[in-house]
Formats: sequence, structure tokens, C-alpha cells
Amino acid sequence: MKFIDCKNYQIHFNDWQAFEVTIGKMNPSTCFILVDENTEKLCLHILLEHVSIACQVIKIPSGEQNKTLATCQFVWTKLMQNGADRHSIVINLGGGVIGDLGGFCAATYMRGIRFIQVPTTLLSQVDASVGGKLGVDLLGFKNMVGVIKDPEFVFIFTPFLKTLGVDQIRSGYAELLKHGLIADKNAWLVLSKVNDLTTLNFDQMVYDSVLIKKGVTEKDPNEEGIRKILNFGHTIGHAVESYWMDSKSPLLHGEAIAIGMVSESYLSYRIGNITESELFYIRDTITRIYGHNPKYLKPKAELIALMRSDKKNFNGVIKFALLENVGQACYDVEVGNDVIEDSFLFYKERI
Ligand code: NAD
Repeated sequence: MKFIDCKNYQIHFNDWQAFEVTIGKMNPSTCFILVDENTEKLCLHILLEHVSIACQVIKIPSGEQNKTLATCQFVWTKLMQNGADRHSIVINLGGGVIGDLGGFCAATYMRGIRFIQVPTTLLSQVDASVGGKLGVDLLGFKNMVGVIKDPEFVFIFTPFLKTLGVDQIRSGYAELLKHGLIADKNAWLVLSKVNDLTTLNFDQMVYDSVLIKKGVTEKDPNEEGIRKILNFGHTIGHAVESYWMDSKSPLLHGEAIAIGMVSESYLSYRIGNITESELFYIRDTITRIYGHNPKYLKPKAELIALMRSDKKNFNGVIKFALLENVGQACYDVEVGNDVIEDSFLFYKERI
């Protein structure tokens, strides 16, 4: 069975036997499984078939709106009331919300107890579960409170993806596309030719994508340099996601990042890093998969203000991660407001 050796932990793929052996070897005093209502219904029974020790289930409501300190307080309280000690483990069974929040709760409870990530969405399998970033949102701002701490293990089971809706698959696919664009041109070209996401076998794609994220995050765990390239598409994408979050038509994370990747590819073109035909190919591929949604790039002044308040900036100056080439990225690039506005126009005028 496949696994990837990281500096501090291992990522296993579709290997229930390794999962069973691992839990046994960890010999926890008590075992907690964090779920939301969807992973409780769709994934928990499968996991429980492979855990031979008694486990207590903690359930939180699904959704980004619950990725808060209030939910952490609920989880910490459940852990304490049910006898969690320093030898307990927490298994986070769910998407990025469960992984980020459950990891943060475990990393801080009694100054840190062991936890395992079992990501069940495409986005969390290729992105959120790898790299050690944990945390919650504050006052509507994403991931404002958190820590960087690696799990003991990550167990990725691609069959969990079978119950995901197509929108969630598309959302996660944006991060696969991003990994190709910033680090692996061949992967990008293969991914860009896929027509039907619903019938794909994700095994190899997830493995390859995790390998890219692992490679980048291990070189720079604290995001002081190269790790910033993972933010390609996310400066504009996060602003769009945040602005529309409380509207009647919010975007899923990957849908917002798709808009961000088209606009930021335009910025990469404007600074001379990619050719016009590469730019058009990226735009046409992404709008074919995600549709063309120009209304989300409004109002431009508010979006640029949101980009300015991004915690990745320095002194309010917007720093972009852009493409150096197709399959390679650069970071800390400053771009004038007029060019940012042109990038919105470039996306909007697509017919
Ligand atoms: P999510 O956790 O909200 O999951 C999306 C939906 O899918 C939820 O309703 C969930 O209950 C449901 N679900 C989960 N597994 C399922 C399954 N197997 N079948 C059916 N439904 C299932 O969202 P997400 O897209 O997985 O993750 C988004 C979060 O990840 C954001 O909070 C984002 O900030 C975070 N994130 C973190 C990192 C990181 O490095 N830590 C990286 C990227 C994103």
C-alpha cells in the first residue's frame, strides 16, 4: 500500500490495515472521533469497523460558520467531561472544517494531545490535511486563530469521496489544478483535459497532489518563503469568497479560488511570466469547469480593500503568489491597483 513519509508523520492511502495497526500501537487511554452530521451518517460506520478500541464520538454542526472558538469550547468541554487526558487521541473524520478545528482543539487541549487526520472531502485530502495548519475563524475572518502542528498520521481513503456532491468535488478539484499550475506542468495538462469529474478515479491524482503539497510545506513549514506559492489564486479568491460569504449566493472555496486563479494568471501574464496562449488556455479550462461568473468580481474597491487586509500582506501592501511559468510559481509579487482591476476585467469579459 502507498504511503508518503513526511518529516514528522506519515500519510497513508487507502490502507485500513495500517490504520488498525496504528491505533493499536498508539495505545491511547481514550479515543475520540470528531464528526459533523454528514460524516457521522456517511463515514463513521466505515471507520468504526476498523477501530477495535472503544471510542467516544463528538459531533459538531457542519459548515464554515461553525469553525469558531465557540465550537472549540464545546469540543474542549466534551473532551474534559469525558475524561480525555494527555494519552488520549482525537481522530478528525471530515472535511477541512473538522480537520482544522479538531486539530486545533487537540493541539491546544492540555497543551497538546495526539491527533489523526482522516480527511473525507477532496479538498481536505489534497490540501487541508497536509502541512499542519490548524485553526478557526474570528469575527468572520478566516483562520485568524490557530497554530501550525503536525498530526501523528494522516489516513486518506478515496472511497469516502463517493458520497460527496459534484459541487464539493469541483471545489476540491480547484486545489488539484492549482498544485499542477504551480508545481507540475504535466499534472496540470492531464487535469485540464478531464471532462467529467463525477466518473474520475481519484487515487493517483490525490496521491500526486499530496506529494506536491507535502514537498512545498516541508521546505517551509512556517510560510516564510516558498510555502507562499500555495496561495496562488487565493489573494483574489479569498477576497471574493469572503465578500460573498453572507450573500444569497455564496461560493464554495474552490469556486472562488477558480476565479482567483484566472485573474492571477492574468497578472502573471502582465508581468511577462506566461504567454497569451497559456493564459487563454488556463482561463478556458477553468471557466469550462467552473462556469463564468463575472458578478463575483464586484464591487472592485471592496474586493481590493479585502485583499489589502489579508494576513499574508506586510504593511497593507498586497503580495501575490503568481505563476513564474506554467508549472512553476513565484511569491511576494507586488502589482499596481490598475493591473489588478485589469485582471478583473479580463475575467469578466470572457464570453
Ligand atoms: P467542509 O469541511 O465544510 O466540508 C464540506 C461539506 O462536505 C460539509 O458539509 C461536510 O459535512 C461534507 N462532507 C464531508 N465529507 C463528506 C463525505 N465523504 N460525503 C459527503 N459529505 C461530506 O469543507 P472542505 O471543503 O472540506 O474544507 C474547507 C475548509 O478547509 C475551510 O475551512 C478552509 O479554510 C480549510 N482549509 C484548510 C487548509 C489547511 O492547510 N489547513 C487548506 C485548505 C483549506
